[in-house]
This record gives sequence, C-alpha cells and structure tokens, in this order.
Amino acid sequence: MPGWERRSFPAPEGSRATIVYGDLGQIAFAPRDLAAFNAAGPVLHDSAQRSADLGGYVHVLGLGGSTLHYVGEAHRLHPDAFRLHSLTGQGANWPISYATLEPYYALAETRIGVAGRGIGAGARWRSTPFPQSPHPQSPAAKLLGQAAARLGWNWEDNPRAALSEPRYSGAGTQGRPACNYCGHCARGCPLGDKGSTDVTFLRDAAQTGRLEIVTGATVTRLYRRASGGIAALDYHHAGEIHRQETPLLFLCAGAVQTPRLLLASRDAEEPDGIANSAHQVGKNFMETLGYTVSGLVPGLQLSQRGLPADAACWEFNAPASLDGLAGGFRLHSSVQETGLNGPIRHASRLITGHGAALKARIRESFGSAVSVSATGEVIPDARSQITVSETRRDRFGVPLPVINSVLTDHSLALLHQMAAAARRLLREAGSPREIEQFSSYDSFTATHVHGTCRMGNDPATSVTNGWGQSHDHPNLYIADASLFPSTGGGEGPALTISALALRAADKALAE
Ligand SMILES: Cc1cc2nc3c(=O)[nH]c(=O)nc-3n(C[C@H](O)[C@H](O)[C@H](O)COP(=O)(O)OP(=O)(O)OC[C@H]3O[C@@H](n4cnc5c(N)ncnc54)[C@H](O)[C@@H]3O)c2cc1C
Ligand code: SF4
Repeated sequence: MPGWERRSFPAPEGSRATIVYGDLGQIAFAPRDLAAFNAAGPVLHDSAQRSADLGGYVHVLGLGGSTLHYVGEAHRLHPDAFRLHSLTGQGANWPISYATLEPYYALAETRIGVAGRGIGAGARWRSTPFPQSPHPQSPAAKLLGQAAARLGWNWEDNPRAALSEPRYSGAGTQGRPACNYCGHCARGCPLGDKGSTDVTFLRDAAQTGRLEIVTGATVTRLYRRASGGIAALDYHHAGEIHRQETPLLFLCAGAVQTPRLLLASRDAEEPDGIANSAHQVGKNFMETLGYTVSGLVPGLQLSQRGLPADAACWEFNAPASLDGLAGGFRLHSSVQETGLNGPIRHASRLITGHGAALKARIRESFGSAVSVSATGEVIPDARSQITVSETRRDRFGVPLPVINSVLTDHSLALLHQMAAAARRLLREAGSPREIEQFSSYDSFTATHVHGTCRMGNDPATSVTNGWGQSHDHPNLYIADASLFPSTGGGEGPALTISALALRAADKALAE
C-alpha cells in the first residue's frame, strides 16, 4: 500500500525468524472506529480474516533481542495486575506480588538508567527514586496533557529507558551519553543512551570477564538427562553443530521461540516436548491490543520533535477500572512511533492533493500532527497459542513456530473502549477529525507477546514456579516474556522481564 510502511527497524537477513501464522481470528464486519484507514482511504482490503501482512510478530534475532528496536518505555506493572483473576474472575493471578518484585524493579531501573518522576506515591509505589531525572515533554505531549486535564484524566511523564543525564561510569551506564531527542528509538538508538540489553546488562556482564558471547549462533535442540533435568543443547554456528553440556540453563528466547524450542525438543521420554508434562507449553499466548489515531491540530508547531512515548495516561490501566470489562489500557502520545515525524510519511499518509496545492498544504501542516495510541490487555483464550508446524522447518530442520492469536469478544469490546478514549483525547487536543487509524482489529502487529510458559504455583496449569524455574526440570529457568500470567493493562513488558530475570538469577546463585 503506497505510503504505508510501519516497519522501520533495519532488518538484515537473519534478523527475523520465519513465522507461520495460524488462526488469527475472523473479522465479521468493518467498524468505522477500528478498521485501518489514512488520508488515502481504507488501508487493508476487505477480508474475513485478520491479517499479519502489515506487521506480524515484530522482533529482532540478535544481541540485545527486541530491546534493540523497542521504544524504551520502562514500566512497572500495576500492583493489581498481579491479582487479575482475584479482582475480575478472568485470566490468571501471578504467583508473586508487586511487593516481591519491587526490589528487582528498582535494581533493573538502576542498571538500565531509567528516567522518570515521582517516588512513593500512587499505585506503583517505589522504594527508591528514579535513577535519572525526567525528560522534558515534547510539544505534542504537552498539548495532549492540557487536553487530558480538561477531561479530568491523569497525564504523566512516561518512565523511559533513555538517559536524561550522561553516565560515563557505574553499572549499566558506561560510556553512554544523554539522549539527543532525535526521536528514532524504534529504529535502533544511534547513541547508545537507550537502555537496550546490549549496552546495559550484557555490557555489565562482559565486564566481569566471565561471559563468553557466541554471536550468530542458533540453538536448535535441548536434551534432558535420563534422571531428569536439562543436560545439554545443540547450537549451529558458522556451518557447524556444537553440543554444549550445562549444569544450568536459562532459556530467554522470547514468548514465541522459547516454547518453540521446548516443543521441538521432544523425545521418547517427553513426546510432547521438554517441560511440558502438563501440556502448558505454548498455551495462553497473549499479544497486546493496539489502537492508534492521528490528526492535525491547526497552529501546533514542531510536533515531530521530542522523545517518543514521553507521556502517558494511566486513567484506565488498573484491571478493574473499566465497567463490565476485565483488564485495562493505557493511552500515550505517539507521533514519533507512528512514523509521522518525517515529511514524506506525513505527506503520504495525512495529506491528499496534487501539485502546488499539495506542497503548500505540506509546508503549512508539517509539525502539527498528533497521534494517540492505546495499548490494552489481552485475556488468555484456549485458541491463542504457539504450536510447532508439522510440515514446515527452518534451514536447521527445526519445526517453525505457528502463532495462533484470535480476537475474542472481550478483546473487541476493549478495543472499542480504547478507540473511543484515544479519539476523544485527540479531538479534545484540537484535531477536528481523525485522518489515520490502525488497530489490532484487522492487523495482527504484535510488539508485545507473552504467556506461553506461564509461571504459577500449580504445576497442572503452569510451566514454571514463581522464580521461572521449570516444574519438570529444576535446572531449567525461563527468563523472558513467556512467563507472564497476564499482560497488564498496557504496560510495556521489558522492565518486568528484566526484574524477573534478576530475581531468577539471585535464586540460581543461592542454589
Ligand atoms: C517496535 C517495538 C517497540 C517496543 N517498545 C517497547 C517499549 O517501549 N517498552 C517495553 O517494555 N517493551 C517494548 N517492546 C517489547 C519488547 O521489546 C519485548 O517485549 C521484549 O524485548 C521481549 O523480551 P524477550 O526477552 O521476551 O524476547 P526478545 O527480546 O525477543 O529476545 C529473545 C532473544 O533470544 C534470541 N533467540 C531466539 N531464538 C534463538 C535461538 N534459537 N538460538 C539463539 N538465540 C535465540 C534472539 O536473538 C533474542 O536475542 C517493543 C517491541 C517492539 C517490536
Ligand atoms: S530519542 Fe534518539 S538518542 Fe534518544 S533514546 Fe531515542 S534513539 Fe536514542
């Protein structure tokens, strides 16, 4: 579709996995408030099937994983998110509480260098201040903040894994300058101030002198001991297969590749895959719901400038904050992530016309675009799961992962509420109409995926215990988004993944 290109991270060959898409759900009609359009008209062709054509599972295979192109929102989950089932009767509770994870949230924030405002107050209480002072809000965020205030909604500096002050010494911050507000976090930060894993945790670990990193290697199979426990793994590197024995394995391949490896490593003793005695590996797959709307606000200037996702509204985020619906959502300013901070996309997606009139319109309107995004909770559904293909394999012979992710009636109802709130905020900010929108309704574009090796207290309904340790094989830890029993109401998962991993590492060290 001309002018429609939301993928912007450079993706050299091998930096994305081949994924098979299974059931992504039927869409029966095209509601005006959800179906994708821009100034040129409808974006997707009419189809009865939700499509992954415009996005799919967006991820990076590489050192640093998907944090290389993440925006860097560094969210703690709402404390009530850990008790989703108790509070709403839907989804699952976590086996741990916010209080249990809080010291690890604080440690992760320090190592990453998170910038934010506030201490101690509000639902997400803190034991320590943010390690870095907040970033200034962009013109678009300030305008949306004024609109939110008129609506009686909160509007806060978004905690950001981007340095507001340079740090040239100390854990997780070596040689990292302050952010220059270029706005391109999702394309990979050129400065290294964004707190991606390669410049924080991995750099710290390398400094111990006890870390060996094998880049360009692909793990293809896990092996178990006859007596139980993980014994070894195979990895392919530079055209050769290597077998690595291990007393302890941390599996951190993400919520699609982790279950794929476990399911593909079946043998006679575990014909359904490793760590899968309860048939829970791959189950409970959760994307997050997304909705974004953009418009032009006459008189606004320089909206293309500033840090992406610099401010957010948490009014509807708590799991029991919406009438009749479990789960929540979050709104944020998103003109940079939407890709409207450059004149070509601005012109091709928000403006119509020809010749001199078009040029004049572009000059007059560039810098006045505002986008509001809503990110919302997904409640697990039995149809949404990761399986492995029976017919398709990668070049190493490993079965490809199959993503099944349907939009339930609950998700659809939440999407309508998300859209209504985002459009209301955009209109209140001064945009006379919506010029572009896209959402999870017709396109599966999963930046956040979770849940496929759920942690829990009951081995019958979960894959690991509350430490991320396999119920079946105690020397196997999982430390990625697979562990999440619930998605949260729009929080980014990366900080929680880091906190869970730090906690699991403490446990493994203690043992
Ligand atoms: C555009 C975009 C913006 C985002 N913005 C935010 C944000 O602002 N805040 C936030 O919290 N989250 C954000 N996210 C989501 C966040 O990036 C992910 O949730 C997070 O990185 C997932 O971490 P993970 O450890 O589960 O998996 P990944 O980050 O995907 O890491 C998996 C790792 O395993 C490796 N791997 C996989 N398979 C194999 C194999 N077979 N052999 C060897 N290695 C393997 C990969 O190379 C990779 O390094 C964003 C995502 C996208 C796409
Ligand atoms: S705005 Fe630019 S410099 Fe700042 S974190 Fe993002 S990519 Fe890095």
